[in-house]
Amino acid sequence: MTAEPAFERIAIIGMGLIGSSLAHAARANGLAKHIAGHDSDPEIRTRAEAVAGLTDSLHADLADAVDGADLVIAATPVGACGDVAKAMRDHLAPGTIVTDVGSVKGAVLKAMQLHMPYGVHLVPGHPVAGTEHSGPEAGFADLFRDRFAILTPPADADAAAVARLVAFWEGLGSNVELMDAEHHDRVLAITSHLPHLIAYTIVETASELENELEAKSRDDDVVTTREVIKYSAGGFRDFTRIAASDPTMWRDVFLLNKDAVLEMLGRFSEDLTALQRAIRHDDGDALFDLFTRTRAIRRGVIEAGQAGRFQYTENGETGD
Ligand code: NAP
Repeated sequence: MTAEPAFERIAIIGMGLIGSSLAHAARANGLAKHIAGHDSDPEIRTRAEAVAGLTDSLHADLADAVDGADLVIAATPVGACGDVAKAMRDHLAPGTIVTDVGSVKGAVLKAMQLHMPYGVHLVPGHPVAGTEHSGPEAGFADLFRDRFAILTPPADADAAAVARLVAFWEGLGSNVELMDAEHHDRVLAITSHLPHLIAYTIVETASELENELEAKSRDDDVVTTREVIKYSAGGFRDFTRIAASDPTMWRDVFLLNKDAVLEMLGRFSEDLTALQRAIRHDDGDALFDLFTRTRAIRRGVIEAGQAGRFQYTENGETGD
């Protein structure tokens, strides 16, 4: 005899990479009797409809999607979570669990909490799993398997609701960690947000340089084309993959995790200056010691099982 699904009806708001992966994964693991989807973008809804077996129902109106749901998951860019909470508030039954998957937690908690009716349990979350792809076709059921899912329940969160959500993420194959929102945002600022900022910067710098080189080679009548792309295997390739991540998502992440990102950026700039100095002064020992320490960190990532079956772009991981 198979166990009853954990939820009667899951409503997923935002049918992009994470929303569609949640739909696939919840179905594959038998976690819901009914999976309802909503996306504010008609084109995304049409594309989601074309993905076989993605949802049981897909709604143009958010209220219709959350109606009767006992779990609602906001899988939109973090900047939209407040509006999503506002739009659903009059349609949530008491006892419903509301969560999200946003990469920033403090700002999302504040924005969503404002609109939660009495008796509805808000437990924000963040699966530390993803790819650089977007949209409903990009999702797959195994995205969350063996990855961390971080939940950031507010101090007064309902313990039973938190336990149900922990069980849900474990049912998707994730390892669940609980922490407060502020701590999450500082940890992710250094492990995920800063690596993305570096990738965006280095790709932009390289592209400007390439334009200069091409202009010069035209002047010299020498034919050289796209050397940066041609020789990208030399480390640059992984940065281009990370820098291909969704612009809306990452704009929101930097605007809503401003303090923590700026703090980590300050620390990073100091360390970069020290490295610059070591190179200028031919301090090979300093360089060698640093590279030895960082190599040991990579070993730790592999031993922790976080080296990546999949390409995980939130933390700059190179997968296979
Ligand atoms: P995505 O593929 O771009 O999907 C987001 C979807 O939400 C899009 O279809 C978007 O439509 C829709 N949307 C935007 N505003 C909406 C609204 N107000 N109501 C309903 N739907 C709305 O993005 P994603 O990668 O799945 O990211 C979703 C969330 O997951 C983000 O908060 C992100 O921080 C988090 N996350 C992402 C990753 C990752 O690696 N990608 C990993 C972990 C967590 P439009 O396309 O028309 O805007």
